[in-house]
Amino acid sequence: MEHEITLGQRSKRFVRDLFGISGSGQTMPRERRMPPSLHLAECTGESRVQVLDAMKAFLVENDLPLTADNVLAAHSAFTGNNLRLRRKIALHLQSGLPVTQEWLESQAEDDRQDSDVADQIDQMADLLDSSVSDFQLTAIRARTAVSDYGRSIEESVSEIGVAGDPGSQTLAGWLEISQRMIAQSLQFEERLRRSETEAQKLRYELEKVRRLADIDHMTGLPNRRGFDSLLEEELRKANENIEPLSVAFCDIDNFKRVNDTWGHDTGDRVISSVARSLAKLTDDKCHAARHGGEEFVMLFRGISLDEAFLRLNEAREALSQRRFVKEASDEVIGAVTFSGGIADVFAYESPRFALRAADEALYRAKHAGRNRICLAER
Ligand code: GH3
Ligand code: MG
Ligand code: MG
Repeated sequence: MEHEITLGQRSKRFVRDLFGISGSGQTMPRERRMPPSLHLAECTGESRVQVLDAMKAFLVENDLPLTADNVLAAHSAFTGNNLRLRRKIALHLQSGLPVTQEWLESQAEDDRQDSDVADQIDQMADLLDSSVSDFQLTAIRARTAVSDYGRSIEESVSEIGVAGDPGSQTLAGWLEISQRMIAQSLQFEERLRRSETEAQKLRYELEKVRRLADIDHMTGLPNRRGFDSLLEEELRKANENIEPLSVAFCDIDNFKRVNDTWGHDTGDRVISSVARSLAKLTDDKCHAARHGGEEFVMLFRGISLDEAFLRLNEAREALSQRRFVKEASDEVIGAVTFSGGIADVFAYESPRFALRAADEALYRAKHAGRNRICLAER
């Protein structure tokens, strides 16, 4: 028993260190904070040891078997490659619950469902795309060959027509056969031209499928992959036009309770409804995406961090005033709220660090009682 208590305390310390939260819920001064999780490739010496220590402590303290999946999960969480998992683990440990194998697998499953479909579509599209372009190339080559062939028969026929003896039976027969071959090669050429057009259409369709793979089908918002492209694009535009750019993570509060009390379908409708609330903020400079599960990510370009904070906070406030009702039975679900963390993308070394800062701010918003937006620390 004593052993368990010790482990629990170490877990708590390790979560506090990870997010820079003191025992009283206050943020620790920067210099006392353990270096935040880093991509192993990006960190050297001491910080690498700290990431490895964090992974080791997590696996050992929670008595998780050293399977490849568990080590990968710990790696993605503590290097910051999977911010979502990192925060989920922290919140879970913070609430005093043990990280069991079952719990970890359910988190990984949620993550997989989100990204796998899009990746599979992308792989399929890649495969189809290369077959279609091969086919297109073959069709073009075949048509050119047929066309050349047809032309040379035509030339030979006209030469025979000029030079040959028109009275000869054999020559007349040859001429007739050649005329038929010319007609056939013209038909074949036309068919190949149509195949080429079909292949081109198919490639356009594949492009559409690829774009669909970046959309979350439930909410209609871009998914995590879509967000990655948006971030790249908005970053480029913000740099070009010298505009500010902010990024925010939003996560529905106590959403598990909605699922547990009202069922998964109602949970889905709640997620879609929150997505619609966030989508109201969007325009060509503001984007909302579903980052996965009940979590969203937003980009604000061309307005200051403070202005972006105010807009997001207004959306949060408006949603918290609404009362949800279960569609089928009119039973009152009540208020649905979300917490958020927002960061100025250009205040950090790279967008990756800004995302992590926004995620840490979201964690602080949760820790401080939920239904609030926190500004990232600089
Ligand atoms: P917190 O305030 O700390 O964010 O608590 P929470 O209950 O919202 O967080 P937690 O991560 O424990 O629970 C999120 C739940 O969301 C667990 C997962 O099964 C559920 N979920 C994830 N994706 C979907 C989905 O597409 N539909 C539904 N209905 N539930 C989902
Ligand atoms: Mg949540
Ligand atoms: Mg969540």
